[in-house]
Parts: sequence; C-alpha cells; structure tokens
Amino acid sequence: MLFWNGLSDQNGVAPLGLLLTSRNSIHIHIRDELIKSGVRAEHVDGTTPQGDREAILGRLASGETEFVSNCQVLTEGFDLPDLGCIVLARPTKSFGLYLQMIGRGLRTAENKPDCIILDHAGAVYQHGLPHDQIMWTLDVDKRAENVTQAERKAKVGSDPMCDCPKCGALRVRGMGCDACGWEPQRRGSGIDFADGDLIAIDAPARSNAPASQMERARFYSELLHHQEARGYKSGWAAHKFKDKFGSFPPWAWNDLQRIEPSVITLRWIRSRNIAYAKATSFSRTGASHGTAAQ
Ligand SMILES: [Zn+2]
Repeated sequence: MLFWNGLSDQNGVAPLGLLLTSRNSIHIHIRDELIKSGVRAEHVDGTTPQGDREAILGRLASGETEFVSNCQVLTEGFDLPDLGCIVLARPTKSFGLYLQMIGRGLRTAENKPDCIILDHAGAVYQHGLPHDQIMWTLDVDKRAENVTQAERKAKVGSDPMCDCPKCGALRVRGMGCDACGWEPQRRGSGIDFADGDLIAIDAPARSNAPASQMERARFYSELLHHQEARGYKSGWAAHKFKDKFGSFPPWAWNDLQRIEPSVITLRWIRSRNIAYAKATSFSRTGASHGTAAQ
C-alpha cells in the first residue's frame, strides 16, 4: 500500500495527495487499492472528459476527495496550493519534468506546514533534492542544471544519494543524516595495538606476504656463506637471521648448501654492521654490550 496512507497531521488528517504516473494501469490500480482501504480516491487521465476532470479536481480542492492518481495529465499547469503530498510513481530522465511534478506540491497555503514528496521512482537519486540550487537558463540550446547535484556527483561520484543506515532517510553520501542526526564514522578510527618488535624488512621479503620458509632458508644459506667467507665465528649467521626474522633458524638449516649472498643481502648485512658499529662505539664509554655479534 502507498506510504501516503500512513500520513496524517496532528489532527489525524491526511494531506491532500496527488500521484503522478506514466502508465494507466498503475494509477487505476493504486486508486482501487486506496478505495479498498477506505480512502476517498479518484483518478484522472487523458481519456477523462474535461467536465469530469474539473469536477474531480474540484472535489480534491474541497477535500471531499483526498487523493487523486493521474497519468500524464497533471504534471504541469495544474495549481492546487493545498496539496500536501506528491507521489512520484514514474521515472523521468527530464530534470525539467521532475521539477514540474514536485512543483505541484510546493505552493504555500494556509495551514500547510510542508509538502511531503514520496519518491517511488527514485528520481531524487538522478536529479537531486527539491531545494537544491538550480542554474536556470533562457538559452534554447541549454537546459536548467542542478548545480548542487552536479557538485555532489563531482565529489562523491555518479551516485551521490544514499539511505541513512539508522533511519532509512535519504542523505547525501558522506554526510550526516538530517532526519535522525546519524553521522558517518571515519574508517580506521579504531586502531588495534599489539605488542611486538620492529624488524627490518628488505627487498627479498618486500612482497605483501611474510617471507616464506623458502625465502628464509635461502637468506640463511647466504648468511652462512658470508660467515665462512669472512671467517666470522660460528653463530654470527644465526644471530643475523634472528635480527631479521625475530627468531633463530632451525638447527638443521646449518647443513644447507651455502649460497653466495645477493647484492640485497650484502646491503642488509652492511646496514646491520653499521648499526652495530654505532651502538658499540656509543657504549664504549659505558657498560659493555657483551654480545658476540660481529
Ligand atoms: Zn537517519
């Protein structure tokens, strides 16, 4: 059933409603459904004789009829300031027609606080809000433009309107909800912390995934090669491995075939040696570090 059926002011009176569709079958169906639920509804379309049409609109103006559904007749030129609800049940690609249709309900009248627009066609997603700033033009080759909607689209993409997740009201994407005050939460505002040590990550392990066992084994093979080539004491390679990955390599890896270090591995060893040299020269005046690393 139409949402209009649930609307009423503080006195329990439903606003005078006008429904606009582009298909006869729909507006007659809606009129029938409203009548079934006790609403004084009538309909108008292109086949309604002029006299009947005037009588129907006269009954709407007096309140005798509460709701008129119509098909492609009353989209423009029809003037009843007391209309309190416009129901859009037809989509339109024409921004001008969209404004014409909702304009049927935007005249002011005594005892009329507002006009409710029920957009069953989703026209607002395409054309923007009724109170947006419009750039009018008298140039016959140009059309009126909704400047505000164009700015929204430039800012947040071609689909600038969305529903409020809390109350379901229409809102501009990225903005708060005017209806209930809901505010979008910035992603990443909650940061999880975990204890851990920072370790140096070099090019061989620079892929997004952590270094695989294969990569770690290869790295250790290069360290063993370097240890023996330079005559460093045994254990140097294992300590360097721990320096990089946070834990000692498996004991069995000491039997791995030695591999000549890559340029990247050599660069890493050099950077660690420089860091070590700085640390030891700094501590020479104080307590000894006592580590066996080279
Ligand atoms: Zn809301």
